Amino acid sequence: MSRTYNFCAGPATLPESVLKQARDEMLDWRGSGMSVMEMSHRSDEFLAIAETAEQDLRDLAGVSDDYAVLFMQGGASSQFATVPLNLLGDKTSADYINTGIWSTKAIAEARRYGHVNVVASSEASGFRDIPDQAQWQTDPNAAYLHYTPNETIGGLEYDFIPDSGKVPLVADMSSNILSRPVDVSSFGVIYAGAQKNIGPSGLVVVIVRRDLLGKARKEIPTMMDYKVTADNGSMYNTPSTYSWYLAGLTFQWLKAQGGVAAIGELNARKARKLYGFIDASEFYSNPIVPRFRSWMNVPFVLADDSLNSAFLQGAEERRLLNLKGHRSVGGMRASIYNAMPEAGVDALIDYMKAFEKERA
Ligand SMILES: *Cc1c(COP(=O)(O)O)cnc(C)c1O
Repeated sequence: MSRTYNFCAGPATLPESVLKQARDEMLDWRGSGMSVMEMSHRSDEFLAIAETAEQDLRDLAGVSDDYAVLFMQGGASSQFATVPLNLLGDKTSADYINTGIWSTKAIAEARRYGHVNVVASSEASGFRDIPDQAQWQTDPNAAYLHYTPNETIGGLEYDFIPDSGKVPLVADMSSNILSRPVDVSSFGVIYAGAQKNIGPSGLVVVIVRRDLLGKARKEIPTMMDYKVTADNGSMYNTPSTYSWYLAGLTFQWLKAQGGVAAIGELNARKARKLYGFIDASEFYSNPIVPRFRSWMNVPFVLADDSLNSAFLQGAEERRLLNLKGHRSVGGMRASIYNAMPEAGVDALIDYMKAFEKERA
């Protein structure tokens, strides 16, 4: 067996110890005589797995009892519809900030269900910047304010939590949840597809303030209703049990690393190293305003585009995989989520140095 450094944006690398534990427990989960995949979701065994995972997430992120934690399905993209269907209520519009491809998608989907005001956008600058909050044209009567704290494709990350006043703040934290400390009490809803910092794709974790439950439109699909999901412990239907279990293993791993504050320091160091190297080089560059560079997704371009495929091929030979940038952006992108060890970043920098020396 030989593991690579996998810089994929998602599904992304998972901690090796999590995968090993899943392997060791695959056929017989702790004497139950069966795999977690084969267990009834109503069994005592699975209920214990589910409750432990939820509690560990609450401990890690600092989620109080004022919030329900939901383990839903359909990925983050299904939340683009689920959020407006749950939160628009008797309001007529919602506010959105547009900072890249994921916010654009969230906006397009929300427009199917209500009026959307794009109250700030960095589209004109090529999504290299976060618009200054003082200029946001927010509506105090909006149903909610939605933003994307980390734009996975552009590599653009907020370094502050927007102040939404009394309007509930909604965040798509798919690619930076649990990557650094965040004050959950500032939010109405946080949602995150699991496949970046948590576990397998398909699962989506939703943290929703309880006073926002029960406002859904009557025609909302039952499966999307936050209140129904909360009232049924995320088991209105059969949940994605194995993904939930794996998420739980990742939460335990993160606790063993010292929690979110400790991983946040490590993430800052990894990002600082990689951006520092890129900035010092004449050959590689990153277009994002430095203050808003993502700690999780680091896009970079080579001074000569015609060397892209040679760069990727050489990387593969060193078992540094999935560095190709998103098809809409081009260039390269290194995703360095929680589970990417610092040694992976070091190996990438060593390779980039060698490639520059040889080919530039
Ligand atoms: C990956 C990602 C999504 C899409 O997640 P799916 O689970 O594939 O629907 C949405 N938003 C952000 C910020 C992402 O990084």
